[in-house]
Amino acid sequence: MKALTWHGPRDVRVDDVPDPRVESGTDAIIRVTSSGICGSDLHLYEVLGPFLDAGDVLGHEAMGVVEETGPEVSHIAPGDRVVVPFNISCGRCWMCERGLFAQCETTQVSEQGSGAALFGYTRLYGSVPGGQAEYLRVPQAHFGPVKVPEGPPDEQFVYLSDVLPTAWQAVEYADVPRGGSVVIFGLGPIGQMAARIARHRGFQPIGIDIVPERLNMAQRHGIRTIDASEHDDVADVVRELTDGRGADSVIDAVGMEAHGSPVAELGQKVASVLPESISERLMSTAGIDRLSVLYQCIDCVRRGGTISLSGVYGGMADPIPMLTLFDKGVRIAMGQAHVKRWIPDLMPLVADESDPLGVRDLTTHRMPLADAPHGYDIFQRKEDGAIKVLLEPHS
Ligand code: NAD
Ligand code: ZN
Ligand code: ZN
Repeated sequence: MKALTWHGPRDVRVDDVPDPRVESGTDAIIRVTSSGICGSDLHLYEVLGPFLDAGDVLGHEAMGVVEETGPEVSHIAPGDRVVVPFNISCGRCWMCERGLFAQCETTQVSEQGSGAALFGYTRLYGSVPGGQAEYLRVPQAHFGPVKVPEGPPDEQFVYLSDVLPTAWQAVEYADVPRGGSVVIFGLGPIGQMAARIARHRGFQPIGIDIVPERLNMAQRHGIRTIDASEHDDVADVVRELTDGRGADSVIDAVGMEAHGSPVAELGQKVASVLPESISERLMSTAGIDRLSVLYQCIDCVRRGGTISLSGVYGGMADPIPMLTLFDKGVRIAMGQAHVKRWIPDLMPLVADESDPLGVRDLTTHRMPLADAPHGYDIFQRKEDGAIKVLLEPHS
C-alpha cells in the first residue's frame, strides 16, 4: 500500500510499504478515508528529527471503514464507519479505568518511560505505523475506534480523533469560571476549536495569532482576536480587555515552535522579578525562543488563574519563572488529550445538524495522499491559507 513516510527534516515521501494485517486478537484493519495533518506532525517534520527512523509512517488523525477485525473485537465489524483516537488505550487498566487514556499502562512504552502508545509517533511513542496511509492497523481495537453514523462527510467526524478532544480538554483544564475570560494563544486547528468550544460553553474567548487567515477564521466564529504581530506586548492588550487583571484562564495552543514574538523583551520582563544572576542566565539560555508563548501565558493570566497547556513542549524547558508563578498563585495543567474521555461530550455536538462548533468550517485543503508532501509544506509555512489539511488516501 501507499503511505506517507519520513526520510529527514522536511523530507516526507509517499512510499510503498507492506500492507498491515491483523497481528493480535484485539487488532482491526481500517481502510483510511481521511487523515489529518496535525501541528504535532510538524514537530516530527522538522524539530524532533533525532527521534525518527527513515521510513516511519506518520499520521494519527484517521477515520475510515473497518476491513477486518481480530476475534476479540466485538463493538465494531467490517463495513462500520469509525474514527480512530490518536492514543492507543486498552480501556481496562488502572489508568484507563480513571479516564487517563493517554497514560494507558497496557500500551505505554516502558523503555522510554512514556505514556500510551500513539499512532505515527515513531519510537518516541511505540513505533506504531501511522494513519497517513491507505490502511491502518489499529491495536486495542476492542476499545479504541469510535463508530460514527453514515451520511455526513468525513470532516464532520474526523476531528474526533484528536483536534476536538484536545481542544475540549484544553478548555476543561483551563477551568474557566462561569462566564469568565479565556485567552487562547495559537489559532491553528487546536486553538480554533478551543476558542469555539469556550464560546459554546458560555465563556469569553480571546484568540491570539499572527497569521491573517487564522485570525479571520476565528472572527467569523464570533471570537474576539488579537494580532500579536501588531503589538509589542499582547499581555497589555489582554489586561486592557480584562479590567486590568489579566485573563481568568489562558490556553497555550502553540507549543515549542512559537515564532514572530518579541522574545527578548518578554524574557526580560519575566526575568525582571528574578535575582540578576538568574535573569542573566535566563536571557542567555539558547532554548528561550521555545518558551516565548509560555512566558506570554504566564504574563497574561490573572493572579489565581489557570494556564492550560495543550501545545507540546519537548526536552528541557529551562528556566521557568517559578517565583512569578508562585507569587501569582497560578495553576497549570497539561498533557496529551485523553481522547475517549471527551467523546461523550463531543459526539452530540458533531452529530447535531446545526453544527454548533462549526466543524465543517475547519478543513481548508483536501488532497490525495500522493500530494501529502505538498500538504506538509503549506501547513508548516502557513501558506495558501492552509489551516487544516485532510489527506484522502483513496480519492
Ligand atoms: P498549528 O501549528 O497549526 O498551530 C500553532 C499556531 O500557533 C499557528 O496558527 C501559529 O501561527 C501560532 N503561533 C506561532 N507563534 C505564535 C505566537 N508567538 N503568538 C501567537 N500565535 C503563534 O498546530 P495545531 O494543530 O493547532 O497544534 C497546536 C499545538 O497543539 C501543537 O504544539 C501540537 O503539537 C499540540 N497538540 C497537542 C495535543 C495534545 O494532546 N495535547 C494534541 C494535538 C496537538
Ligand atoms: Zn493531531
Ligand atoms: Zn489502559
